[in-house]
Amino acid sequence: MIPALMPTYNRADLAFERGEGAWLWTADGRRFLDFGAGIATSSLGHHHPHLTAAIVEQATQVLHVSNLYRVPQAERLAARLVETSFADSAFFCNSGAEANEGMVKAMRKAMAETGRPERYRMICFEGAFHGRTLAMLSATGNAKYLAGFGPPVDGFDHVPFGNMNAVRAAITDRTAGIMIEPVQGEGGVRPAEARFLQELRATCDEFGLLLGLDEVQTGMGRTGRLWAHQWAGIEPDVISSAKGIAGGVPMGAILAKEHVAKHLKPGTHGTTFGGGPLACAAANAVLDVILAPGFLDGVQRVAALLWQALEGLATRHAGIVEGVRGQGLLVGLKLAPAVTNGDLQNAAVAEGLLTVAAGENVLRLAPPLVIGEAEVRDAAERLDRALTRCAQAAQHRQAQQRQAAQ
Ligand SMILES: *Cc1c(COP(=O)(O)O)cnc(C)c1O
Repeated sequence: MIPALMPTYNRADLAFERGEGAWLWTADGRRFLDFGAGIATSSLGHHHPHLTAAIVEQATQVLHVSNLYRVPQAERLAARLVETSFADSAFFCNSGAEANEGMVKAMRKAMAETGRPERYRMICFEGAFHGRTLAMLSATGNAKYLAGFGPPVDGFDHVPFGNMNAVRAAITDRTAGIMIEPVQGEGGVRPAEARFLQELRATCDEFGLLLGLDEVQTGMGRTGRLWAHQWAGIEPDVISSAKGIAGGVPMGAILAKEHVAKHLKPGTHGTTFGGGPLACAAANAVLDVILAPGFLDGVQRVAALLWQALEGLATRHAGIVEGVRGQGLLVGLKLAPAVTNGDLQNAAVAEGLLTVAAGENVLRLAPPLVIGEAEVRDAAERLDRALTRCAQAAQHRQAQQRQAAQ
């Protein structure tokens, strides 16, 4: 019989009862170091006192009023995001997929309203992940996710990640813009080179296209800057955000330059829940922490330590680890075919460490942004033991295969 909770996930048999900082506890008292952060979402870790207090306080006042009224928490959040970024205006919604849908709608609308309605297509990239709605499945373009869900939504063209010639060749008189993750998260923690992002910006300017960045996973401090595109020194026309933006409370956002945002006039786009008092109070509390002087410098320092530790592990386990990649606190261990990321993930759980798998046989680490040196060392030791387990199991399998072949 089907479980009452629809079985859309292969879940680990773990249920967490409470958390504190980078740690989670099961009801039977087992403790886990959380280097997955609920897929790069629990940006301040668990039970962060400032975030918890903001949520509790807002809950005692008002949870929801709808966008038929002014929401001061949303006005304040938007003003802070605008003040600290390339953007002139923000729209709030509830998830990453919804933010990306809004971003694509905004790009198409801007084209239509400036006399180019035939320009509705987005150039997207192989290995992308933009979410699970019907249109974002098409933007993602992964055949496995699309299978069985009917004809793909029209308007998304895919080219190899990082290939500028392919991008230029894909531009037609129907193209509205380019949509890219600064670091492909689900696709295998693959960073775009700064130079590639700069060339995309220049190409958009050359052809009158819009550059939309999916910063759902890379934004809000994850890479050590508030937004990952800052590392490339470029200004996009529009970006999407979600995951860590409200520290675990569901929220998404579109941030845009005025020349894009101004076309989403009253009645053109909407949401019942988006930008409500509770989520915005949480996001403001997250911003209090992330924008505090020195915080992002601290993220960069702790990320450098984590990278150093992981490079060390890659050297020590060179037989099964092919490399370390990503940016800041979004890091992937690329594994040799002899070990699957699922094997390593399970071995890490056995060592009390939570991680997330990603494409291309990569194990993804995305710890809370508030971790310290001690947690990095602890995680590296656990990962070292997990890698040793996997290397031994792989050797054992290979020995058995050799025997069977004889
Ligand atoms: C997780 C993710 C999404 C989808 O976000 P949801 O909140 O699950 O809809 C979209 N884009 C990127 C880059 C993501 O990492």
